[in-house]
Amino acid sequence: MPKIAVVIGAGPAGLTAAYELLKRTDIVPIILEQSQYLGGLARTVNYKGNRIDIGGHRFFSKSARVMSWWLNILPLEATVADEVQIAYQGKTATVPRQGRAQDPQGADKVMLLRHRKSRIYFMRQLFSYPITLSADTLRKLGLLRTIRIGLSYLYALLFPIRDERNLEQFFINRFGRELYMTFFKSYTEKVWGLPCKEISAEWGAQRVKGLSILKTLTHIFRAKTDLAQKDVETSLIEQFLYPKFGPGQMWEEVGRQVCELGGEILFGWTVERMERTADGRITAVVARHADTGELRRFVGDYFFSTMPVKDLIAGMQPAAPQSVREIGDGLLYRDFITVGLLCEKVKLREPSGELVKDNWIYIQEPDVLVGRLQIFNNWSPAMVADPSKTWIGLEYFCNESDPLWSKSDAEMIELAKAEMAALNMVNGSEVSDAIVIRMPKTYPVYFGSYGRFPEIVQWINRFDNLFLIGRNGMHKYNNQDHSMLTAMTAVDNIVSNIRSRDNLWALNTESEYHEGER
Ligand SMILES: Cc1cc2nc3c(=O)[nH]c(=O)nc-3n(C[C@H](O)[C@H](O)[C@H](O)COP(=O)(O)OP(=O)(O)OC[C@H]3O[C@@H](n4cnc5c(N)ncnc54)[C@H](O)[C@@H]3O)c2cc1C
Repeated sequence: MPKIAVVIGAGPAGLTAAYELLKRTDIVPIILEQSQYLGGLARTVNYKGNRIDIGGHRFFSKSARVMSWWLNILPLEATVADEVQIAYQGKTATVPRQGRAQDPQGADKVMLLRHRKSRIYFMRQLFSYPITLSADTLRKLGLLRTIRIGLSYLYALLFPIRDERNLEQFFINRFGRELYMTFFKSYTEKVWGLPCKEISAEWGAQRVKGLSILKTLTHIFRAKTDLAQKDVETSLIEQFLYPKFGPGQMWEEVGRQVCELGGEILFGWTVERMERTADGRITAVVARHADTGELRRFVGDYFFSTMPVKDLIAGMQPAAPQSVREIGDGLLYRDFITVGLLCEKVKLREPSGELVKDNWIYIQEPDVLVGRLQIFNNWSPAMVADPSKTWIGLEYFCNESDPLWSKSDAEMIELAKAEMAALNMVNGSEVSDAIVIRMPKTYPVYFGSYGRFPEIVQWINRFDNLFLIGRNGMHKYNNQDHSMLTAMTAVDNIVSNIRSRDNLWALNTESEYHEGER
């Protein structure tokens, strides 16, 4: 009898674990996925031929292993210049072209190389990001504000806040108060739902590490074609990979291959309980079917969990110790609503009259709730059914307990249209179709009981055959590549009979870049 691995969740981490098990071991994975789709947070919703992501997903990794894994599933587009390189085993290597590269016009299974463009919308104007103190920026800011920015930056240089405790102080020390108020405060507070004063400075240090006025100004002189871009601050990445039909295409293809290789994916099953023995083994999970309510027990030799740690701890049987349960209960998340608007006409234009080239735009305007806009035409033209229309995703960061979360779809669409009109971007009458997608637990946050999270890690590490992987699975603010690396490392550990989980928890401790930040 082959050994069985029960994998909870068919997002990037669960699918990577299943794929790696099938390729490198005799263990057969069975994935239990609560929804009806593949990709988790990195899925792509196909709405009448218009595809929308849960936030745009850049495919970029400093890990050569991940970069080549992606390109093995979806080959790179053939139109990329010859000198494009990716990193390989700590060195850079040219992407092999023959037999791999695909014409993005003809082929569907293809990874595009995209140029990143993102700007900040403030005072109803677009500012380049990273902020360049160009003539255009200065003209838009006006003389008075420019002087205030300069003076407050000088002040911050001369009199930095010594005991930097919160994110506001972190930003002020690096940019000065005025620039912080202009370009960072509103967006950051929308994302986290907290005043910057209440977010720890350490959080900022981890998230926007290395970004400073000097780097912001100097990076424009550093053109790069190295896809791995190891030496470029990731907040300043210029290029990324993107599947022709969005990130979901990657995970649908991986899911297809997992089934082809002999794995199983069962949809509609929500894992509610995890059975454990007193001597540190997991024996089974119990899952409920969404349609029938049936409860079924799935036994296995190994268990990989990408479900939220909060739910996993709450579902332990026998129950986890009281103190561990308390920490699990106290873990917090930020939730997310995206509204797709199909627009006949938009006012967001380049000076040439074309649609703006931005992939996404940060909304720094405090009078609207929307935090960020995605323009899916610019991620991949194939994301839009009719290229004459503009397919925009408005992103609202919120908590499930907020009144915003319980608004009806119609109300959300009205709000999105009203805000686009208020921002002077799209008239309500120009919106011909719309969709609302709510995603709970999009951001595991480092507030609440998170300070005591190591106690959970210590307790959970005792289970030899249980691997916590991925983003919510480890309560880590991981991107796809880090989520995948945790899955790959867990399989490495099985293959090499490594029992410690230290290498798993150590991944991403020096968090290089994240999607919510600039
Ligand atoms: C707005 C936004 C933008 C992002 N942008 C980027 C980006 O630009 N680049 C990038 O690389 N990454 C980005 N990410 C991060 C990326 O989406 C995640 O790192 C990745 O999806 C995590 O993979 P995962 O498998 O760990 O978890 P998930 O994607 O969350 O998948 C977990 C799966 O488990 C299922 N599940 C949960 N509980 C249960 C249960 N009890 N039983 C059964 N199934 C269950 C869920 O339905 C889901 O399918 C972004 C994320 C967000 C929210």
